[in-house]
Amino acid sequence: MASLVDDIKKQAKEAAKKESGGYRDPKSAPRGHSKESLVGGTEALIIEQKLNKAFYATPNYPEELRMIKMQKMQAQQQGDRYGLHCSAIITSENEFCYREQLLSLFYRQAQGENIPIGLKRIFQEGSMLGEKWQRLFVSSGLGKKEDMDISRFLEKYDLSYTPDARIYIGDEPWVVEIKSMNHFQFQKATSHPSGRKQLRMYMFFERIKRGFVLVENKNDQQFKVFPEIYGETFTKEDIMPYIERLERIQVYKREFIEDKKMVDRHPKCTSATCKMAQECNMRDACFNVGMGRVKLNVRND
Ligand code: SF4
Repeated sequence: MASLVDDIKKQAKEAAKKESGGYRDPKSAPRGHSKESLVGGTEALIIEQKLNKAFYATPNYPEELRMIKMQKMQAQQQGDRYGLHCSAIITSENEFCYREQLLSLFYRQAQGENIPIGLKRIFQEGSMLGEKWQRLFVSSGLGKKEDMDISRFLEKYDLSYTPDARIYIGDEPWVVEIKSMNHFQFQKATSHPSGRKQLRMYMFFERIKRGFVLVENKNDQQFKVFPEIYGETFTKEDIMPYIERLERIQVYKREFIEDKKMVDRHPKCTSATCKMAQECNMRDACFNVGMGRVKLNVRND
């Protein structure tokens, strides 16, 4: 056992040495990052140095525990899932279904039982990765516990969204979206397309000009950051297609309340047993199978 632990320590040391060019002090270490940053190297370099430094901070366990308690209490209070979710709104035309979104505002959705076990394991790992970074942000003073993983609700669009973190670099607030990649993808990555879409939406809703996607390599815990700056790397035009989807859902919602008119099914969704339906949280309500249409205990006026 001892030799296994020694081997792991040795491998980690070698990987870290390779990444930092042999520098022990993270301030002097070069970035473990390719040159193709969207905003140019400077922001990414500064952020990566700050984040590397966070690993040397003395843990602030009482504050970390308070953060975890807050997050768990929030999760426990949520009950039935209600509201649209940003991650569903930014999907491709092939995957996005208005009917699914509309049904979710009125009827109970699957509570995760339709998610394959492989995906469940990945989601669990993703949530632990988020917690690791959030604890580092809190302990190092880069962020406050109140700004880690706290859900917001935009009544105008019936939209829930949960930025992974808001931290401060200097006096500037930054929104952070945390993702992971396997080694092969990580080495080639010059962005994280879905993380970037999510981040831009959160920055827009939070009215915060700066943000970055933090991508960690699942194999060796190296990380890269991909900064985004509103007005430089993207504008409102880039997120307009998703805002339009949200606005259309509100139109469909009114039509359903007033005229009981339901949106058509997605053209790719051909039966309750097709792949798309099986992965859909609203399949039962859509095809009236399983639990069928169980009304949500919320007012929709
Ligand atoms: S089952 Fe298919 S058509 Fe029905 S809501 Fe889900 S994705 Fe849309």
